[in-house]
Amino acid sequence: MFEEFEFNYYRGRVALFSMLKAIGVGKGDTVVTQAFTCLAVPEAIMATGARPIYADIEKGSVNMDPESLRKSISTSTKAIVIQHTFGIPARLNKLLEVAEEFSLPVIEDCCHTYSSTYNGKPVGSFGVGSFYSFEWGKPLVVGIGGGLKVNAQEYIDNIATQYNEMQLPGLTDRIKIEIQYWAFKILLRPSLYWPLKKAFHKLSKSGLAKGNYNDVEKEEVSLDFSLRLSSGLKARLKSKLKSIDKFTSISQRNSNFYKENIKSEKISFLTEPDGTDTVYARFPLIADNKEELLKKAEQNSIEVADWYNTVIHPLKDDDLEVIHYKSGSCPNAEWLSERVISLPVGKSVGNKYRKQIKSFLNSLNA
Ligand SMILES: *Cc1c(COP(=O)(O)O)cnc(C)c1O
Repeated sequence: MFEEFEFNYYRGRVALFSMLKAIGVGKGDTVVTQAFTCLAVPEAIMATGARPIYADIEKGSVNMDPESLRKSISTSTKAIVIQHTFGIPARLNKLLEVAEEFSLPVIEDCCHTYSSTYNGKPVGSFGVGSFYSFEWGKPLVVGIGGGLKVNAQEYIDNIATQYNEMQLPGLTDRIKIEIQYWAFKILLRPSLYWPLKKAFHKLSKSGLAKGNYNDVEKEEVSLDFSLRLSSGLKARLKSKLKSIDKFTSISQRNSNFYKENIKSEKISFLTEPDGTDTVYARFPLIADNKEELLKKAEQNSIEVADWYNTVIHPLKDDDLEVIHYKSGSCPNAEWLSERVISLPVGKSVGNKYRKQIKSFLNSLNA
């Protein structure tokens, strides 16, 4: 059973920000994180005044390469963020060995997982702390929101002080989030995945909906980083946390089906380290021709997600420089973002839809 969170924030990135601040990360420091992530992670690092350094992922995997981590560490490094992408545990034995060698604190990015284990121990319990997100696409959805678990007691007082100084989101914000929550809840089903995705992008561009990402061109730090979770969403989260075990068993049933039934020359599976017991947030695959597959999936109303579509999703070209990613520096992450797709594993996927997905993917051979 997953315990309740000690601290709940406006978003997952705010939880990361607060943990970094408690560690003492600030201007002039660097924090190592992996390429093949989303903008929220470097945004949180940069909000402290520090600079993100990107380690590459292991070839054929979705998680950080221990050797690339080692090369990314310098005298200015103050912390390491280890992400368990799609719920697949990172190669923790090697990564933690490197962190220990340099006496650096590790924060686990658990936005995709509550229940995955590594060598029998739950992810989120290895670092000094771990953070979670409750927006759309994550295993538990409350609308928008984040949580922090702190394993190293030495940081608790500092985090509590920061927390007490944070504000609650404004009324307009809360209303937008609430409308979005119910709209998605009522409308979202596999057959409406593609049209809803398009509508959400349009609405968040126009400011009518709360999008997932802030503008990278803006100099000032987003107000998001001074906000806690509203009490209404906190109550919703509390009741939703009870359904984690249910999500876990549905995810396992669906991902096992995918493992056993997807057989296509155009598609391959990702590799995972030994000792993992994975509860997927989505089931990732490597596609030969991602663009064509996505187009066909849309035509057939099959839910296939495209993320991470770039090394630091959703940024491209010059925007990557703004967050200090140098093009070509993480070739494995660049390779994968051009090929990765993922399938839903939650309760929207029943027996009939699973079979539809299977026949769609396996017919790509022809
Ligand atoms: C969603 C997500 C985040 C950020 O969460 P927000 O609630 O959007 O701030 C960070 N890391 C990963 C891997 C995520 O999937």
